[in-house]
Amino acid sequence: MKTEIRFYNTLLHDVEPFATQEADQVTMYSCGPTVYDFAHIGNFRTFLFADLLRRFLEAAGWEVEQVMNITDVGHMTEDDLADGGGEDKMEVSARRLREAKKAGRPDAAAVDDPDDPYQVARYYTDAFLTDARALGLAVADEYPAHMPFASQYVPAMQDIVRRLIDNGHAYVASDGVVYYSVESFPDYGRLSGNTLDHLRSGSGGRVTEADQNSKRHPADFLLWKPDANHIMKWDSPWGEGYPGWHLECSAMAMALLQKDVIDIHTGGEDNIFPHHECEIAQSRGVTGAPYFARFWMHARFLQVEGEKMSKSMGNFHTARDVFAGKVTGTPVHPAVLRLELIKSHYRSHMNFTAKGLRDSAQTVRRWTEFGRRLEQEANGNSQPPDDHPVVQRFMAALADDLNISGALAEVLPWMANCREKASTALGVFRFVDDVLYLAALQEKGAGTRQTEEGSDEVAGLCRQLDEARTARDYTRADALRQQLIDAGYEVRTTPAGTTAHPRLA
Ligand code: AMP
Ligand code: ZN
Repeated sequence: MKTEIRFYNTLLHDVEPFATQEADQVTMYSCGPTVYDFAHIGNFRTFLFADLLRRFLEAAGWEVEQVMNITDVGHMTEDDLADGGGEDKMEVSARRLREAKKAGRPDAAAVDDPDDPYQVARYYTDAFLTDARALGLAVADEYPAHMPFASQYVPAMQDIVRRLIDNGHAYVASDGVVYYSVESFPDYGRLSGNTLDHLRSGSGGRVTEADQNSKRHPADFLLWKPDANHIMKWDSPWGEGYPGWHLECSAMAMALLQKDVIDIHTGGEDNIFPHHECEIAQSRGVTGAPYFARFWMHARFLQVEGEKMSKSMGNFHTARDVFAGKVTGTPVHPAVLRLELIKSHYRSHMNFTAKGLRDSAQTVRRWTEFGRRLEQEANGNSQPPDDHPVVQRFMAALADDLNISGALAEVLPWMANCREKASTALGVFRFVDDVLYLAALQEKGAGTRQTEEGSDEVAGLCRQLDEARTARDYTRADALRQQLIDAGYEVRTTPAGTTAHPRLA
């Protein structure tokens, strides 16, 4: 089903008809997590926006090839500066884990040696994949093929640096650092509005005069930094050191998607500058093709109860804290968090609230029960849904720059009043659920994974329950079952053992 699709393109600052280079295929690159801590719900809002976009395009008949990187090197703490500054985020993480180990805190036990950044990255990558799969990110099921580590693409990044130096877009400064020369790219600033004129006058404090030392222009950004003391370092013609953060996405997108210009590039709004502006400049510098991606799409930031999410405000929530009930007092099924994070338009500031989460829980519960009833009544037989008006209106809303509220407003009232033949309704339900991925996520058993990997405590109770049953101590088994139920879990015992997953509402 090909619908006329229009997306907002940050590059044009406007909505435009969506077109791809190849008839049925979309190449899409999504900036991924920096694996120095557990991913928070803001990160997942951005990742889930990309997932909804992907699933919508697939439903519309495209084959989507999506790559999402895992950043394990070179992402500095002061990443709003064109040049990056401060410390590598992996160093911050190593220090935090070292201190936790010294203090004997249990959270440090998972990483044997915090001084080994590869161990730290491995630990947070595993945690990310667990959360991402629980939330139904399709690309996480394609790990590792479509989720590359930046540290494994350093030779490809060095190749880009070499080519940029050769063709005059980059230079080695007097202190040995390799910079991209922004003045060599007249279109610098087109994506973000931070043109060189703006930057020269210090617009928005983006470029610090203090850090200019040997740079030709204050906005020149780092491609390679010789630094033998960096937490991760590689030999290079420019000295032992590490790559600039922006380089990794150009290198991995080109290597894995095999294109000079990809169809869609996604990220959060903070990625627009400097990260994506610099990606465009350096990719253009090597390929000569304009703009690296045809469509640049960015999700706006998530806020919590109307405020910016920050550790100091105490409103900073990781996805796993939400699942475990640490935010609302009761466990939250990942399908509920998924709906909560996709249900507002990606270009509006999303406001995460406990009330919103309760509403999402109710919607997911009704939707899932509706689907189960239809599956039973129709005995699994569904009619092809393409011509159904609900499907057409659902897709038309999403084709309008991913208007999710409009799409839900077609589907939810239809569900509430549905009097159609079960097999017809089931076709519609399955089609829509393939895009929203709510009921499917539960059938997939995200809840079970939760107990295995998300919460040690719950998994421990399930194990004890099974031990009690084996020992025929049914009083204890019942007490443990009740403890889980009281904590908000649905408990299932099968011959394979007991699992518990958060009740939906
Ligand atoms: P990071 O792990 O810091 O590299 O960020 C991963 C992704 O999350 C990036 O695309 C960011 O733009 C995005 N992001 C970070 N904070 C938020 C937020 N509060 N709301 C939405 N997206 C965010
Ligand atoms: Zn990126």
